[in-house]
Amino acid sequence: TPKLEIKDVGKIFKTKSGETTALEKTSFAINEGEFVTILGPSGCGKSTVLRIVAGLEEATSGQVLLDGQEISGPGPDRGMVFQSYTLFPWLTVKENINFGLKLKGASHNERDNVARHYLQLIGLEDFENHYPIQLSGGMKQRVAIARALANDPKILLMDEPFGALDAQTRNIMQEVLLKAWEESKKTILFITHDVDESIFLADSVYLMTARPGRLKKKIPIVLDRP
Ligand code: ADP
Ligand code: ADP
Repeated sequence: TPKLEIKDVGKIFKTKSGETTALEKTSFAINEGEFVTILGPSGCGKSTVLRIVAGLEEATSGQVLLDGQEISGPGPDRGMVFQSYTLFPWLTVKENINFGLKLKGASHNERDNVARHYLQLIGLEDFENHYPIQLSGGMKQRVAIARALANDPKILLMDEPFGALDAQTRNIMQEVLLKAWEESKKTILFITHDVDESIFLADSVYLMTARPGRLKKKIPIVLDRP
């Protein structure tokens, strides 16, 4: 079975002025360990899909299955990375990374080992006692990725995580993420409106068109041209 299965998901937002159909009948699946990007223009419904998978938004119709089980509400089995970092400002880098493990009651030793591992993976060994406000955008996003992975989620959900970064930092962060993915073997769902980024990162790219919910195509990426 696929790791994540989205089946005929629809989403209608009720607003003061009426209704917005963000998704009509969206279906796709992601296999274990696969890195999938959803590529589409602003407003096509990418964030809505991701937020529904995260449990932050309820689908109006359809099903979301994680490991064959229907999701209900948010949970630590889904790691999230947003464009806006959302680190805990009152916690150090190390404490941010260990936040989920501490909630689970992991021992001091275990937390120390996990933190060391991820600090090294993201290249921030020398910054473990820094606070988020002391970090650049790229560094903050490294910590956000490490924090999500340290909690050992079933899937990593990423909403335009590098959208606020300059082009050079963005390229570096794409490399950091690929390294973290290869090392962790996590399943990743990553949304972006950046064509280069989606093609560089993904095993599979799903295209979402500007009309609501029409997640139509899976474009096979040609790695080697004859
Ligand atoms: P994308 O992530 O591709 O930019 P979104 O998923 O944010 O697209 O939005 C899809 C559509 O749903 C847009 O028309 C947007 O205005 C609408 N929408 C998203 N969130 C809400 C909300 N909370 N209330 C009303 N409409 C919303
Ligand atoms: P993105 O392109 O990253 O989706 P948006 O500016 O479309 O960013 O949306 C930012 C936030 O505002 C999201 O949480 C989305 O759900 C919400 N949102 C988007 N459109 C609307 C809307 N028409 N009414 C209310 N909330 C909205």
